[in-house]
Amino acid sequence: MYSEDDLLPISALQHLLFCERQCALIHVERLWAENRFTAEGNHLHEKAHTGKPETRNGVRITCSLPLHSNTLGLVGQADVVEWEPPASQRISGKRLVDVLKAATPEDRQQWRVTPIEYKRGKPKQNNCDRVQLCAQAICLEEMLDVKIEQGELFYGSKRRRVTVNCDEALREITLHAAQRLHHIIDHRLTPPAIREKKCDSCSLLNLCLPDAIAPNRSVNDYLSEIANF
Ligand code: SF4
Repeated sequence: MYSEDDLLPISALQHLLFCERQCALIHVERLWAENRFTAEGNHLHEKAHTGKPETRNGVRITCSLPLHSNTLGLVGQADVVEWEPPASQRISGKRLVDVLKAATPEDRQQWRVTPIEYKRGKPKQNNCDRVQLCAQAICLEEMLDVKIEQGELFYGSKRRRVTVNCDEALREITLHAAQRLHHIIDHRLTPPAIREKKCDSCSLLNLCLPDAIAPNRSVNDYLSEIANF
């Protein structure tokens, strides 16, 4: 169990799974730079966070819900959370927000609680987005004493949701990623740069300089490259 002082941002999990060096540059060395991808992502999150709570089709929708988990050692915010009561708790004429406020812990365990994370672009092959969402689900479970089977990722370019099952395999990957995140930050580890295709979309490319300082790069490689400038 982590203490309140040890909590790290949930969003750092995504940096970690994208590139451990990027994660260390941001969270250990405190470097940051925007590019088109991060700006688009921020814009999408801002839109999600300025949404007002509302009830739609029997589902209560809340925005910017603070989250934390002492098990994972993480803190953050859910873009959107949907709260859907079982039919037995719907009371004709009573507003859903009031039903939710009056629910006992036992009542709440029967609600379907669904975190929704907004993402730019389209679904990814890797686990970055799924792990971040699963971490949010684990936070909600710990805070509300509920069980969350699924979350949703809303992708801006497709304007559609993708359902993510928070199964044991994904929970295991999420727990492992959170532990690795704490290890890297606690020990102030910044891994060496390794030039990969993903570097082209990394906002820290010009700070990381993977072409200049990759460990397997010879002096001749470097000199012949700068001679072309
Ligand atoms: S440029 Fe490449 S190696 Fe450097 S932080 Fe970004 S993804 Fe990682």
